[in-house]
Amino acid sequence: ETVRYPDVVLITGAANGMGRGHALALGRRGVHVCVADLAGADAVADEIVGAGGQATAYRLDVTDPAQWTDVTGRIRSAHGGLGGLVNNAGISRRLEFPDTTPEIWDQVLAVNLSGPFHGMRAAAPLIRDSGGGSIVNISSISGQIGYFSPAYSASKWGLTGLSKSAAGNFASWGIRVNSVHPGLVDTGLLAGADSFVTAALGSVPFGRMGTPEEITDVVLFLLSDRSGYLTGSEITADGGLVS
Ligand code: NAD
Repeated sequence: ETVRYPDVVLITGAANGMGRGHALALGRRGVHVCVADLAGADAVADEIVGAGGQATAYRLDVTDPAQWTDVTGRIRSAHGGLGGLVNNAGISRRLEFPDTTPEIWDQVLAVNLSGPFHGMRAAAPLIRDSGGGSIVNISSISGQIGYFSPAYSASKWGLTGLSKSAAGNFASWGIRVNSVHPGLVDTGLLAGADSFVTAALGSVPFGRMGTPEEITDVVLFLLSDRSGYLTGSEITADGGLVS
C-alpha cells in the first residue's frame, strides 16, 4: 500500500540531529524538502539532491517573525504551496533553577516556544491555501513531566499546549497539528551531558536511548495520510520513561 506525503515540507533546525534525519528521510520519499536552519542547511539540501531528491535550503532564525514571513513567501513563490511544517528547532539549557538566568529563560522560550508560534502563524495560511496539511511540533517528554531544566521543560509544556490550541483553531483550515515527545535521543543536544544521560537511562524501561530514526518514523507517520484522524494528539516515543 502506498503511503502519501505532502509534496512540500518545511523543517526547521534541519541542519543537524533529528531534523537532518527527518529531512533526508522525506527526501528519499519524493518530498521537496525545505531545509531551514541558522546555518548548514545547504549541506543537507545538497545531500538530498545528491541522492536524487529535491530540496531547497533556507537560512532561518525561528525566533524572528520577519524571517518566517520571508521564507514562507519564498516557498509560496517557488512551489505555490506547502503541505507540511515540522517545528523541530530547539535548544537545551541543562540548568537547575538557581542557574537559570532571565537571559537563558528568554532565549530558551524564544526558540522552543515562540519559534513554533511564529512558524505556525506564517505557514498556516500557506498550508490552508494549498488544500490543507500537517504541522508537527517537536516537544519532549519534558513537555509532559517536569524534566531536564525549568526553562526547557516550561518551553516544551508551552509547545504541547500551543499544539492543542492550534489543532482546534486550524481544523477548519484542513490542517492537523500534533506534537511528538521524544525521550532521550542520541544527538548533539545531549552532548556534554554524559552523567545526566547515564543516570537518566536507569529510569528508561528499555534501558537505552532512542535513535533519531525512531523519532523520524513518528514524524513521517504524522505528516502522512496514515494519521488522517489525528489532531491535537501527543505521541510519546521514550522507551517507556514516562509510563
Ligand atoms: P540538535 O541540537 O542536534 O539540533 C537542533 C537544531 O536546531 C540545530 O541544527 C540548531 O542549529 C537548530 N536551531 C537552534 N536554534 C535555532 C534557531 N533560533 N533557528 C533555527 N534553528 C535553530 O538537537 P536535536 O536533539 O536533534 O533536537 C531536535 C528537537 O528535538 C529539539 O526541539 C529538541 O528540543 C527535541 N528533543 C530532543 C531530545 C534529545 O534527547 N535529543 C529529546 C526530546 C526532544
